[in-house]
Amino acid sequence: MTVYNFAAGPAVLPKEVLQQAAAEMLDWQGSGMSVMEMSHRGKEFLLIYEAAERDLRELLGVPANYRILFMQGGALAENAIIPMNLAGRKAQPATVDFINTGSWSVKSIKEAQKYCTVHVAAAPADGKFTTIPARASWKLSPDPAYVHICSNETIDGVEYHFVPDVAAETNGAPLVADMSSNILSRVIDVADYGVIYGGAQKNIGPAGLTIVIVRDDLIGHALSVCPSAFDWKLVADNQSMYNTPPTYSIYIAGLVFQWLKRQGGVAAIEQANIAKAKLLYDYLDGSGFYITHVEKECRSRMNVPFFLRDEALNDAFLAGAKERKLLQLKGHKSVGGMRASIYNAMPIEGVQALVAYLKEFERKHG
Ligand SMILES: *Cc1c(COP(=O)(O)O)cnc(C)c1O
Repeated sequence: MTVYNFAAGPAVLPKEVLQQAAAEMLDWQGSGMSVMEMSHRGKEFLLIYEAAERDLRELLGVPANYRILFMQGGALAENAIIPMNLAGRKAQPATVDFINTGSWSVKSIKEAQKYCTVHVAAAPADGKFTTIPARASWKLSPDPAYVHICSNETIDGVEYHFVPDVAAETNGAPLVADMSSNILSRVIDVADYGVIYGGAQKNIGPAGLTIVIVRDDLIGHALSVCPSAFDWKLVADNQSMYNTPPTYSIYIAGLVFQWLKRQGGVAAIEQANIAKAKLLYDYLDGSGFYITHVEKECRSRMNVPFFLRDEALNDAFLAGAKERKLLQLKGHKSVGGMRASIYNAMPIEGVQALVAYLKEFERKHG
């Protein structure tokens, strides 16, 4: 029976990528070394690094005036690194604007409060993270250092299906987006953003690598308290090798980028993601046995939280799923219920198998 892993992150990787990594584990392309054993400054690793950067740039259409940084610390470290790099563009203490749409926004807000004056420009009126406040209701500051959004709330299952235009109201403030869990899942125009960032372990590769895509003019303003290894200028000037980068994670990410190109790139995988999400949501919507809470216009294509109407059946549901090799479906503890994460590397067959199981379980217990 095929195993399908619905984990939210670290998450499923394309089987082909893992097979290639296994085949190259002891000897990367005749070098006699594992990628893990190579100097990050040696010619072999530089080939791996440069190809990964080039492929990511091509996949997302990253313009020439943006830098791609391969960092460490995950999105949570970046939640501090961003204010430390951007607040210095304004008189201190700088104001930064946040749109609060879920658990990851909340964490970003708490971290930024250490370095800036945080203004929450919008949050759901009922305090429940099941929607994105209408753009017209946002109360943006006149001159914030930046405006922060989380483009996909991994825990709550809320995703932006529009790009908020904030520049006119904010004296040209750059839009900063935490794209940890939907980067490369859909076509974006990088030029709409000042900074895009995310941990790799959702839709790119192994944990340990953090991707930052930042517009040139936003580099070089770090506060003096910013650790050197987190100063975007030092990182950019040293091709992400100011300190040792997470070499093996970059290698695997590079293999994922090549795999994604073979699938037809981001536009093609977006169509596949739309089809997978539709299959699952259509079934859940048509059933009285399962329920979802997120408003339809902002449902995530990547993370689908759902609930059994009778929560007393949760353990039986998860046990049956495990028997069918449908893994890691338990919802985040703060939300409860179930969550199916269906990232790029989840094939449609996995979603079909999940829907078949949902039906079977409903028939038996409904
Ligand atoms: C997983 C996740 C994070 C946390 O990332 P770390 O790599 O654990 O720091 C932050 N934001 C979003 C949207 C996430 O999905």
